[in-house]
Amino acid sequence: MPKTEGVIKYKLDHQDIPFDKNIAVSDINACRTLLFKLQLIGQLNDRYAGYGFGNISQRINSLNPDTIQFIISGTQTGGIETLSKQHYSYVTKATPEKNIIHSKGKTKPSSEALTHASVYQQDKKIQAIVHVHSPEIWQNTEQLKLAYTSANIAYGTPKMATEVARLMQTKQLKDEKIFSMLGHKDGIIAFSNSIESATLRIIKYYSRAIKFEQSKRDS
Ligand SMILES: [Zn+2]
Repeated sequence: MPKTEGVIKYKLDHQDIPFDKNIAVSDINACRTLLFKLQLIGQLNDRYAGYGFGNISQRINSLNPDTIQFIISGTQTGGIETLSKQHYSYVTKATPEKNIIHSKGKTKPSSEALTHASVYQQDKKIQAIVHVHSPEIWQNTEQLKLAYTSANIAYGTPKMATEVARLMQTKQLKDEKIFSMLGHKDGIIAFSNSIESATLRIIKYYSRAIKFEQSKRDS
């Protein structure tokens, strides 16, 4: 849905102040740079009406186990090749079922922060989430046997949170930790217990999707 890509749909309570010095972005930023180089995160004139796409987050384990906290790449940062700390936002509290995000940082969180929050909410072991846009993986959702959220559910809505909760109960998602969002063109989400392994999951499926594309071309 190109018309709404990049538009924040949740209620945001954002403090425009730098976040805590002891929160490092070096791991998440290295993975984000790699995904940018692969054009899985980025901003291109001929895709999604020129809006930025893809985002990445890493959980901050808070003292209160019921509070969902994470750092996430900021809104409108898709076109920047290498981000720095000021391009990340710290979500200090998220309530997906109420559609509310509290954050701080020199950039507002990605418009898809609510979807990240609904994935974190499912399991405390989930430490990192990567959301990319890959026509190759998305178009091969069926061949790759990927779990998927249905086509009538748009990104960033409370309905997506319910749909993610449903998917999490499936063996397919528990085993593979990656799914397609059929209501969000080319949208793929992978999650894991580390940012590196969530990124590797995307790359694994990207290479499998390329293999399918190549075998179609060669047959
Ligand atoms: Zn997206």
